[in-house]
Amino acid sequence: MTIKVAIDGPAGAGKSTIAKHVARQMGIPYVDTGAIYRSLTWQSVNANIPLDDENALAQLAEGLDILFIPDGESQRVIVRGIDITQAIREPEISGKVSLVAKYPQVRRKLLAIQSMLSQSALGVVMDGRDIGTSILPDADVKIFLTAKLEVRARRRFEEMKRQGFDVELEKVLLELEARDQADKQRKASPLRMAEDAVALDTSLLTIEEASAMVAALCEVRLKNKGVQ
Ligand code: C5P
Repeated sequence: MTIKVAIDGPAGAGKSTIAKHVARQMGIPYVDTGAIYRSLTWQSVNANIPLDDENALAQLAEGLDILFIPDGESQRVIVRGIDITQAIREPEISGKVSLVAKYPQVRRKLLAIQSMLSQSALGVVMDGRDIGTSILPDADVKIFLTAKLEVRARRRFEEMKRQGFDVELEKVLLELEARDQADKQRKASPLRMAEDAVALDTSLLTIEEASAMVAALCEVRLKNKGVQ
C-alpha cells in the first residue's frame, strides 16, 4: 500500500521537521523540494549567472545534478559531488531563492527531478509550496501548515543558531515575510492552499504535537485506502 503526502505552507511553519517525522514513522522517503530550489540558487550564484536571466537559469536547472544522501535523522544535499547541505541554508541563498523560483521555465525543468524523486513504490512525503497544487495533485493527504509570522521567525532563528549561523531575530522575520510575499505573488505555481488540503495552524502547538496530528491523519487515510 502506498501513500503520497503533500505538505505545503510558508517558510518556518515546521514543514520539513514534520515531513521528516511523518516519513520516518510511515517508513517512506522524504523529499525536501525547497532544497532543490536552494541548490539551483547556490549553483547560479557560484557560476555568476545573473538571477534575472530566466533562460540561463532554466539551462542550469536542466542539468542540475543533485543527490540526497540519508544522514541519521536528516539528509545531506550533494550537487556535482560537493556537499552543500549547510551552504544552501546561508542567509544569502535564502534571500535569493524566491527570485530563481519565480520563473516558469525553471519550475518546468525542476518538475522532472521532483517527479523522479516522488516515484518510490512505498510512497513519499514531499514538502514545498506547490506540492498539493502542482507536483502531487493526486496526493492521499494534503496538509497546509501555517503559523503566526512571529512564531515562524522565532523557530527559524533558533534553528539557524543551532546550525551555527550568526543571525538576528528581526532580520530573520523580515526575510521570511519578504519570501512569503514573493512566493504568494508569483504567477507560476504560487504558494497557496489546495482546495482539498487540511489547514493546520502550528502557532500554539509543539512540532511534536503537529507531527503526531499529521501522522494520525496519514494512518487514517491509509486504513481507508486499504478497505476501499
Ligand atoms: O522550503 P524552503 O524554505 O527551503 O524553500 C525555499 C524557497 O524555494 C521558497 O521560499 C520558494 O521560493 C522555493 N520553493 C518553491 N516551490 C517549492 C519549494 C520551494 O518555489 N515546491
